[in-house]
Amino acid sequence: MNAKKANIIFWIMLIAGALISGIGSTEGIQWMAMMGIALMMGGLLVKVLMYRCPHCGKYLDRSTGDFCPYCGKKIG
Ligand SMILES: [Zn+2]
Repeated sequence: MNAKKANIIFWIMLIAGALISGIGSTEGIQWMAMMGIALMMGGLLVKVLMYRCPHCGKYLDRSTGDFCPYCGKKIG
């Protein structure tokens, strides 16, 4: 998995998790709210673990450019 894919997965999990937990809490469905939160946490974990420069291994954080801000090499 490359950094860009990890970032896309992160956003999908975050948005899906927010929606599911939102529905769960407004409808009073506790397991659904919990599942949504778990999904958001999982997305964050994917980002922290996988959203890294393939060359120097540094965490890219909010950087969305094509080049690593640390080593200047092209990201996946
Ligand atoms: Zn780098």
